[in-house]
Amino acid sequence: MTISISESTGTDLTFRDAVRERSGEDIHACFYCQKCTIGCPTAFVMDYKPAQLLRLIQLGQKDKVLGSSAIWMCVACETCGTRCPNHIRLAPVMDALRQMALAGDYKPEPAIYALHRAFLDNIKLLGRVYELGLVAEFKTLSLLAGGPATLFRGLGADIKMGTGLFFKGKFGIVPERIKRMDEVKKLYEEAVRERG
Ligand code: SF4
Ligand code: SF4
Repeated sequence: MTISISESTGTDLTFRDAVRERSGEDIHACFYCQKCTIGCPTAFVMDYKPAQLLRLIQLGQKDKVLGSSAIWMCVACETCGTRCPNHIRLAPVMDALRQMALAGDYKPEPAIYALHRAFLDNIKLLGRVYELGLVAEFKTLSLLAGGPATLFRGLGADIKMGTGLFFKGKFGIVPERIKRMDEVKKLYEEAVRERG
């Protein structure tokens, strides 16, 4: 896929500097060899592939980047960072882009945002994942964001997998809280401070 940048598309070169500063990655060093894209396990579901996304950042294409689905598809596996001849890691870049997208009112992918939200709420409340609570919150948020179609998508497979995990003793019925909740609380406070 070629990237088309029309004249009407706003260019914001302060954006690429902001991404570099926030992620700590030297985005300018990318010379578009595409080794990151070739190794990325989720590139096939991204609208812009990892190397394309970096090129768009270099070109200051803020709206295209922050409005893309790609930034929500990265699973932070770090494959790109190990393959890149310039040692550029996409995982922190994607983290920075997701934060910027949420701060700038760009719409996240509903189901992926719901999963992030449910996971973080679980950890904040209990210090660990309570699987039944996570699934319940994930499904509720998905329903609110994407409507009934989102709720029922994959429901059969979810029930089958959930039942299997339950009978293997992988799901606890009663939520358990870890002892050092004070440390978890500090982590959340620090994250909120850093976000500014
Ligand atoms: S592997 Fe590195 S240099 Fe090559 S396209 Fe990806 S980020 Fe750029
Ligand atoms: S860290 Fe993200 S962008 Fe990089 S290879 Fe993994 S999924 Fe792809």
